[in-house]
Amino acid sequence: MSNAKAYSAASATSPLASDTIERRDLTEQDVQIEILFCGVCHSDLHMVRNEWSVAPTVYPIVPGHEIVGRITQVGSAVTKFKPGDLAGVGCMVDSDGTCPQCKAGLEQFCPNMTLTYNSPDKHLDGVTYGGYSDSIVVDQRFVLRVPSNLDLAGVAPLLCAGITTYSPLRHHGVTKGKKVGVVGLGGLGHMGVKFAHALGAHVIVFTTSPDKKEDALRLGADEVVVSRNLDEMQQHVNSFDFILDTVAANHDINAYLNLLRLDGNITLVGAPPKPLEVAAFSLIMGRRNLSGSNIGGIAETQEMLDFCGEHNITADVEVIPIQQVNEAYDRLLKSDVKYRFSIDMASLKSE
Ligand code: NAP
Ligand code: ZN
Repeated sequence: MSNAKAYSAASATSPLASDTIERRDLTEQDVQIEILFCGVCHSDLHMVRNEWSVAPTVYPIVPGHEIVGRITQVGSAVTKFKPGDLAGVGCMVDSDGTCPQCKAGLEQFCPNMTLTYNSPDKHLDGVTYGGYSDSIVVDQRFVLRVPSNLDLAGVAPLLCAGITTYSPLRHHGVTKGKKVGVVGLGGLGHMGVKFAHALGAHVIVFTTSPDKKEDALRLGADEVVVSRNLDEMQQHVNSFDFILDTVAANHDINAYLNLLRLDGNITLVGAPPKPLEVAAFSLIMGRRNLSGSNIGGIAETQEMLDFCGEHNITADVEVIPIQQVNEAYDRLLKSDVKYRFSIDMASLKSE
């Protein structure tokens, strides 16, 4: 075992603070990664504050599942990487590899999937620790290749915000000629806009923050609707093929269901802690579909990263030292992020 520097939270009400954790010795399939940047996902905040009753938090928690770094060591059977290579790790670090979902490349739905943090650790006592740390040891099957032409601070968020938006857009056939909505212009939302635009769709952003309008257009939106303006909303009734809802807090989903055309689909990727109320008539009228989506499989995550390499897509990031992570969480709650915080892990050296 080796020690790693990290930031952890000791309880739902404690701030994140400097800590030392253990990482396992490499098995033959493992790689060790020096973490260079880690994105700050709103899921980190939900988990640190124990907001999801379906996934109670075990403390101390070391969050972080948007990891990019450089391989420092490889196990004897590793063929995919060598020391010095760039590497990415997202929300998962293991799965059983034998269930139908794993065989279909949908590891994110494996009943025995291991999350990057706060899942029972198969190798060490306790739970897995995530990317707010200077290093991590991961099975090569769950490590992604990173295109060499992209800015690394902006690559880190692709590992969760990127794949979580890319996957449902692809699954629901978003392409040229489709009218696509993205609700919420935060970490996930701004990636959803970039991907939907790159796929050729007509993209409309729904935001509660009128001051994000210009940014939305710059990021690739064709139109912007301030969702609190009912007149603006009304103009789009019965017209969308697909809407991606990335909102992290309680909101009125019926207002968006009513904007879908016949057989249209709205997919929730945002995960508000409390249930949303759905009016039956919002679905019945127009045979509309309400669905959800969870990150994406490993092969699809690689496809997304390669797509980003080809199209020069990264997240728009505000790079912060880890010492500012608690402040970043406060700003996330105010929808004040443009559009993802990316932690420069070199800042951990001074701890
Ligand atoms: P984020 O950066 O905080 O963005 C969320 C955005 O939602 C905000 O920027 C804001 O955009 C909008 N919003 C916030 N409060 C709102 C409210 N009360 N009403 C309406 N809109 C509101 O969060 P994120 O990192 O993108 O994550 C978003 C959600 O996705 C979180 O719940 C997270 O846990 C979840 N998530 C799910 C998956 C998955 O696999 N399904 C993966 C990652 C994250 P505007 O200012 O534009 O209104
Ligand atoms: Zn995430």
